[in-house]
Amino acid sequence: MAEKKFPLSKAELEELVRRYPTPFYLYDEKAIRENARAINAAFGVFPGFREHFAVKALPNPFILKLLAGEGFGADCSSYTELLLADMAGLKGEEIMFTSNETPAAEYQSALDLGAVINLDDFTHIEYLERNARIPELVSCRYNPGPLKEGNAIIGKPEEAKYGFTRGQLFEAYPLLREKGAKRFGLHTMVASNELSLEYHIETGRMIFELAAAIFAKTGVKMEFVNLGGGVGIPYRPEEKAVDYGELAKGLEALYREIIVPAGLAPLGVRIEWGRTVTGPYGYLVTRALHHKHIYREYVGLDSCMADLMRPALYGAYHHITVAGKENESAAETCDVVGSLCENNDKFAVQRRLPKIDAGDFVIIHDAGAHGRAMGFNYNGKLRCGELLLRGDGTITRIRRGETPGDYFATLDQDALAQFAVL
Ligand SMILES: *Cc1c(COP(=O)(O)O)cnc(C)c1O
Repeated sequence: MAEKKFPLSKAELEELVRRYPTPFYLYDEKAIRENARAINAAFGVFPGFREHFAVKALPNPFILKLLAGEGFGADCSSYTELLLADMAGLKGEEIMFTSNETPAAEYQSALDLGAVINLDDFTHIEYLERNARIPELVSCRYNPGPLKEGNAIIGKPEEAKYGFTRGQLFEAYPLLREKGAKRFGLHTMVASNELSLEYHIETGRMIFELAAAIFAKTGVKMEFVNLGGGVGIPYRPEEKAVDYGELAKGLEALYREIIVPAGLAPLGVRIEWGRTVTGPYGYLVTRALHHKHIYREYVGLDSCMADLMRPALYGAYHHITVAGKENESAAETCDVVGSLCENNDKFAVQRRLPKIDAGDFVIIHDAGAHGRAMGFNYNGKLRCGELLLRGDGTITRIRRGETPGDYFATLDQDALAQFAVL
């Protein structure tokens, strides 16, 4: 059972909110670093191992810099994410560019940074050549379609828009070689938030066998395979995290069974995990404002789904604790709601919690990935800021909360003043 603990006491929170009022995100540096080291330790058995942190999960350059210090690279999917990786000091092949429906200018930016381009489609080979150039190192994303089962969030691979079919890959690599590519990678990403160890090991088998088949048939030798992200985290206390050591061991056995006899060793093994890296070590810290008694009991927070939309979007579970009431019994059933004019703006539905009073700190757990990143401004809501609990116990603000000035920054006030209604 995963225990859900928040790193600060109620007294420390009282002190903190004098400087930074709620709501805010808090990330735990020490826990993130320890987790990064555990990932490196488990996967260090593979030659050329690298985790490219999926920037979309927590697009903050302070975090990217911290992870870079642990040897992590970045996985970017857009121009702005490339800028973030660059801002964090990441260089060249430390950056993977896994994009889709990509404009030429974004490919060019990735090439300028020396990032590894991971093509999403067969037609993008010609598009890249025509609008930019084919680099020396290029990777292709595989979509196994009906050859692999999907999972709940990402859906069935054959219904997913991403990647090349198996048949296309056997044409793509020789074509890329003809067009000047000399080094090759093979990538896949087939699941999201998947907690099954076997599922991820089988993904490894699929990609190792494919790399071996492509080599046998075309002579194109992969320099690396990238298993993508999608490893789940135990959002519910009764769930169990994927054991990194077990996963690496399972993959290593397959490496010896498939890659070594195929003559592909040493083959680099890469991953691009996001959720697993920072998810459990980020918290949305809010305060209870109102307690409402109608047909149900409602606890209203000073935050809303504009800060964390996963519960509203997927019905996702996020564990909730109340600072100072960790050991109190769950005496009340309530809906924990935000202030958006959307009835699905609920952090929890019919949840058993200790009795919550106005002013209580309500901590929403496992918000360190795909949390603040998915925020939005609907209803004129201003996204909250981000704090980092440093290894030495101090707190650094790594992003301030938005102001109305930020919200209005894209409007031309002079044009508005002169705007005449016709
Ligand atoms: C979203 C995504 C990831 C990260 O996924 P997590 O579930 O956060 O590990 C990695 N690679 C690609 C291509 C993605 O789209």
